[in-house]
Amino acid sequence: MYDVAVVGAGFAGVVAARDLSVEGYSVVVCEARDRVGGRTYSGEAFGRSVEFGGAYAHWTQPYVWRELKRYGIGLSAPMEIEKVHWLADGVVHSGTAAEYAGIGGPLIARYMADARARFPRPFDLAAADTGAIEEETLGDRLDSLNLSAYDRDVLDGMLAPLVCSYSRQGVAQFLLWAATTFGDWGAFLETAGAWPIEGGTARLLDAITGESKAELRLSTPVAAIEDDGAGITVTTRENDRIRARHAVVALPLNTLNAVTVTPPVTGPVRTMIEQKHPMTTSKLWVRVKGEIDPFAACAPVGKHPVNAARTESRHDGDTLLACFCSDASVINGDDRTAVQHALRAFVPGVEVVDTAWHDWVADPFSRGTWAHHRPGNLTRAVPRMREAHGRIRFAGGDIAAIGIGGIDGAIETGTEAARDIARALSDCG
Ligand SMILES: Cc1cc2nc3c(=O)[nH]c(=O)nc-3n(C[C@H](O)[C@H](O)[C@H](O)COP(=O)(O)OP(=O)(O)OC[C@H]3O[C@@H](n4cnc5c(N)ncnc54)[C@H](O)[C@@H]3O)c2cc1C
Repeated sequence: MYDVAVVGAGFAGVVAARDLSVEGYSVVVCEARDRVGGRTYSGEAFGRSVEFGGAYAHWTQPYVWRELKRYGIGLSAPMEIEKVHWLADGVVHSGTAAEYAGIGGPLIARYMADARARFPRPFDLAAADTGAIEEETLGDRLDSLNLSAYDRDVLDGMLAPLVCSYSRQGVAQFLLWAATTFGDWGAFLETAGAWPIEGGTARLLDAITGESKAELRLSTPVAAIEDDGAGITVTTRENDRIRARHAVVALPLNTLNAVTVTPPVTGPVRTMIEQKHPMTTSKLWVRVKGEIDPFAACAPVGKHPVNAARTESRHDGDTLLACFCSDASVINGDDRTAVQHALRAFVPGVEVVDTAWHDWVADPFSRGTWAHHRPGNLTRAVPRMREAHGRIRFAGGDIAAIGIGGIDGAIETGTEAARDIARALSDCG
């Protein structure tokens, strides 16, 4: 009988396991993959390490920053971008970063204008007045602005790195994100997607698991988690049974349907698990020949196979680009010719040497990228899912409060689940 069983060893799971185990509780972690980190993955490509999943963090993200400081890890500075290329109204336009901000800034400000009014206290969803936006999609909001074809494409391209489906993503999550960065979208983008963790996410994960005293069982997919009132039984797909007093279930939302939870979750949480979140974007690394001039490029969703591209770093005389494709099924990331063709729309003559990516959508242990919730789920289901479910606590970036959809949120929920379980365990003596 362990004190706690943690299911899933992404950032949420490993932090919960560390916090509980260093407090002296016996903890076992069951992780399906042969590595920790989940949707963060410092893998090998081009003869170096690259981040296939979550990579960026920021000093204004409280939970991840605390972890980085705890282990003396910093952030790497992003590459300065001089030029921006944007596809709008069928033509690729180019300008300086300041010129682009001058065109797109007012549009995104209109899109997000009510962010702070809707979420005056972004850390407290119960205080939010979301009635009018519950069912609003990103697409509804875009339509409501009645923009010219050019302005609409500019705005669409700015949103595109975070959009997979305008009709299935709720506007509420965008507004919440914007509200966490003072209603300023530029600040949100810098916070969420500019500063990689120095040494990669694996370095932070190594530090956390190095301090943890939890027993880690890799390659151990879990099939069922049962709370019988007296304790928890975790049943692995190999039919091993593990008993614990409490459980932290730190699985991606889109994989929860494949695990039997007893007693079952009900109501809006059940619906959210069944619906899944709709994010099927892909992050594609591209090595291009030579040290090309730094640039960023963007294109509206559905109008180009690569919706965002940015020079990220130099490597052995070449340049690495980080790209985001709104729909992973539209372009085969392994097809260098197709990727080169797509990038040449922005930078004529660019030569693709190699590409690398991970298919998070086909991966049975993620079934999607970061969470962006469907209309209604952010405010109706997500807060409920963070509440205790008997002896089970759900955790993960997909259901975080202010850090929703990211590493910070994963750590937030792991920390809070561990704190609540430690309290429950100490109350029982
Ligand atoms: C391409 C991409 C780019 C991103 N970029 C950023 C970024 O720059 N910054 C940022 O903050 N966030 C980013 N994110 C989001 C961020 O990576 C995630 O929000 C965060 O890592 C989620 O952590 P988690 O612990 O909640 O879930 P996960 O990391 O998904 O961990 C869940 C774990 O559960 C395991 N699991 C699944 N099923 C089972 C099972 N049946 N039994 C046992 N174990 C199981 C999985 O293998 C996994 O290890 C990105 C995500 C992706 C995919």
